[in-house]
Amino acid sequence: MKIYNSASRKIEEFVPNHPDILKMYTCGPTVYHFAHIGNLRSYIMEDVLEKYLRFSGYNVKRVMNITDVGHLTSDADEGEDKMLKGAKREHKSVMEIARFYTDAFFSDCAKLNIKTPDVVEPATNCIDDYIKIITKLMDTGYAYFAGGNVYFDTSKLERYYIFNDFNEDDLAVGVREGVEEDTNKRNKNDFVLWFTKSKFEDQALKWESPWGTGYPGWHIECSGISMKHLGDDLDIHCGGIDNAFPHHTNEIAQSESYLGHKWCNYWMHVYHLNTNDGKMSKSSGEFLTVSLLVEKGYDPLAYRLFCLQSHYRKSLVFNWENLDNAMKTYGKLIGRVASLIPKNEPIDEEAISALRLRFDNALGNDLNTSLAVTALYDVLKYDTNDDTKLKAIADFDSVLGLDLIKKAEAKRENDKKQAAVAGEFTIISEDGTMDPQIEAKIRDRQNAKKAKDFATADAIRNELKEAGIELTDIPHGVKWKKV
Ligand code: AMP
Ligand code: ZN
Repeated sequence: MKIYNSASRKIEEFVPNHPDILKMYTCGPTVYHFAHIGNLRSYIMEDVLEKYLRFSGYNVKRVMNITDVGHLTSDADEGEDKMLKGAKREHKSVMEIARFYTDAFFSDCAKLNIKTPDVVEPATNCIDDYIKIITKLMDTGYAYFAGGNVYFDTSKLERYYIFNDFNEDDLAVGVREGVEEDTNKRNKNDFVLWFTKSKFEDQALKWESPWGTGYPGWHIECSGISMKHLGDDLDIHCGGIDNAFPHHTNEIAQSESYLGHKWCNYWMHVYHLNTNDGKMSKSSGEFLTVSLLVEKGYDPLAYRLFCLQSHYRKSLVFNWENLDNAMKTYGKLIGRVASLIPKNEPIDEEAISALRLRFDNALGNDLNTSLAVTALYDVLKYDTNDDTKLKAIADFDSVLGLDLIKKAEAKRENDKKQAAVAGEFTIISEDGTMDPQIEAKIRDRQNAKKAKDFATADAIRNELKEAGIELTDIPHGVKWKKV
């Protein structure tokens, strides 16, 4: 597979470090509020990446943190702790908030068919791991103690900025209003590894450390959790584009200074979901959630399809009209899959290989999900039997996660029931088109059959055949296609 590596700013061949395991790390949510559908765009695209890697035969181990401490209202070291802010807003304890929004996050993920990573680790579980890393960074001179906090000294690095081809807006650091400069820092980009003297004396969660009672900075948690579960190296690290700076830049700085060698080979960043008014953000308090989509009658998987229709390295604008269109496309796609009838015919392996090649050419080329959706339509149009088409769709959908087979089966069942209740029969076309003239002929034939006038029924079938229309009788109806 080829993937764009934000660290080299090139599309590269993806080659994992180890033959037996592919190590993947994802920055998880800060659980002080519901995830918005922008956050979930990042998790959908990362889910497709993970599933495609598995589909390609890799044994993926994926780790995700849950940020339940240390993420301040700015992505740098300024402002209030987001968790504390959430707890105050809801008059609950930080741990209650964390538990509630962690559950809410995974429930949203389930609705979007986002698989839960192999390891999910709350930041508050790994304090000893951070202390171990910070202690070594202090001993080796990469960190210093000032004004009660431990800082990473970025002047010790030959190269600090790794992802600096991103535009300034994408790299903008959180909310800055009314925040003063931290005068303890030796250099502008130095960042906190351990706080004991935060401006907020009411910080709820604190732990003992060699530098005093306090709490870890946000960046150290991802290095600590990754090393705890994946060891000293990492194949691919994912996150939204806003994580590139300062979060991922700082993760690389501290991890490589601690390890003394390169840490992670590939960096994948998902660009933002924006509204017409700009970036969707949790801190603004006004954002769209999966529950809101459901309340408004949208299928969450139509939102997943909406995300798949664009490339992860392009910003995506969300509006209701776009989602309406995705709903229509999704409904039609399900309708077309439902028109395929399994008949236990032999699988056409040649067709499967040809179709698989198209799918691989799409996802294997920097995760081109919109072309992968096109590859689904290629299956529907391909000249092969329905069983083969259904197999190819099931295979591809194990990566795309649109529940096409399940929803198509449900639609078929539902159509059958409705037809039985109405005493009618359904007429469907293979490509989803409707043609009143053809449908009228099919009804005439049906009426003739009911009246046991088989000569007329056969004559209508032959007439349609001559006009290039082939009929297949299905339970409670007829399926037609142009040949
Ligand atoms: P947070 O819960 O704020 O820590 O963010 C969780 C994930 O969502 C991170 O990987 C962010 O980079 C990503 N993210 C935040 N805002 C957006 C957005 N508008 N569009 C896409 N991803 C986002
Ligand atoms: Zn992270």
